[in-house]
Amino acid sequence: MEQPLSPERQQGDDGPALRPQTLHEFVGQAEARANLRVFTASARQRGEAMDHVLFHGPPGLGKTTLAQIMARELGVGFRMTSGPVLAKAGDLAAILTNLERNDVLFIDEIHRLNPVVEEVLYPAMEDHAIDLVIGEGPAARTVRIDLQPFTLVGATTRLGLLTTPLRDRFGIPIRLQFYEEGELFEIVTRGARLLGVAAEEAGAREIARRARGTPRIAGRLLRRVVDFAVVEGDGTITEALAKDALARLGVDALGLDGGDRRYLSLIAEAYGGGPVGIETMSAALSESRDALEEVVEPYLLQRGLLMRTPRGRVLTQPAWRHLGLDAPEVPMQ
Ligand code: ADP
Repeated sequence: MEQPLSPERQQGDDGPALRPQTLHEFVGQAEARANLRVFTASARQRGEAMDHVLFHGPPGLGKTTLAQIMARELGVGFRMTSGPVLAKAGDLAAILTNLERNDVLFIDEIHRLNPVVEEVLYPAMEDHAIDLVIGEGPAARTVRIDLQPFTLVGATTRLGLLTTPLRDRFGIPIRLQFYEEGELFEIVTRGARLLGVAAEEAGAREIARRARGTPRIAGRLLRRVVDFAVVEGDGTITEALAKDALARLGVDALGLDGGDRRYLSLIAEAYGGGPVGIETMSAALSESRDALEEVVEPYLLQRGLLMRTPRGRVLTQPAWRHLGLDAPEVPMQ
C-alpha cells in the first residue's frame, strides 16, 4: 500500500526531475551547505581528495542528494552503494580498486555494514590501501594494494549504531535537520515549476505545511496533488484543491497520517497519556521498534506532540488537543 507520509524511499520518489543538481539549487541546511562549499572548493583548488564526510539524520532530508552534489562540485566521479548490499569484503574491495583519483564513494545505510566489510574500510580510509588475504591455511599471505585517494561519504539514520572506529575516521560529520515550512514552500514551488504545473501560493504552502519537515515527502505529496489537479481541477494547485487532495490521502493538518494518529491515540486511550515503553508500543501496534524510532517518532517529537522520558513515551498537551481529547486532570510528570 502506498504510504504518502513515509520518509523512506518508495517507487516513483527521487526521480531526477526534482533532485537539485548544485549547492546553489539545494534549499535549506544553510550551515551544512556553507561548510560544504568551502570544503569542496578547497579540495578542488588543492587537487586533493576531500576529507571523508558522514551525513546523519532522518530519511528523506537530502543525504544522497548532497553526496551527488559534492561530487559535482568537486568535479569528480560518483559511485554509490549501501551497507546491506556489501555482503563480502570482496564486494567492497572490487568497488574501491575501481575508483578513480579523488572520486566520491557514497555508502548509504553505513550503520548496516557487515563487520568484515567494515574492517576493509579502515585502511582504505586512512592509508588509501586495502589488505587482501591470498591463499588459504599456512600458505596464506597478506598483500597490500594501494588505492587512488578518494572521499568516502557515509549516510546513516542511526548515528548511535555506528562503531566508534568507523565514526572516528570521518573528518567531517554533518547532521541534517528537519526543514522549516518556508524552505519546504520553496522546494514545493520549485518542484511545481519543474513539473510544469501552476501552483497558487496558498496551495503550495498547504503542501509544505504537511510535509513533515522532509523534502522527500514534499515531493511525493506534490506529485499526488498534481494528479488531483490534472484530473479533477483545471491543472492548477489551489488552496482548496490541495486541502481536499491531502485530506483524501489521509494527511491531516499537522501532516500526520493514520499510523501517527494510531500511535498517539494508543498512548492516550490505552495508557492514559503515558509513560509507556517503546517495546509495549511496538507490540501493541505490530510495528518494529526501529520503524517507530526512526520513522514515526522523530517528527512527533519535533512537533512537540510527544516526549521521551526515562520511563517511556508521554503525550503532550498539543497532542491531546490534536486528537480532540481531554488530557487527564493530573498533569503527567
Ligand atoms: P536521503 O538520502 O537523506 O534519504 P535524498 O537525498 O534521497 O534523501 O532526498 C530525498 C528527495 O528529496 C530527493 O528526491 C531530493 O530530490 C529531494 N530533496 C532533498 N533535499 C532537497 C532540497 N534541499 N531541496 C530540494 N529537494 C530536495
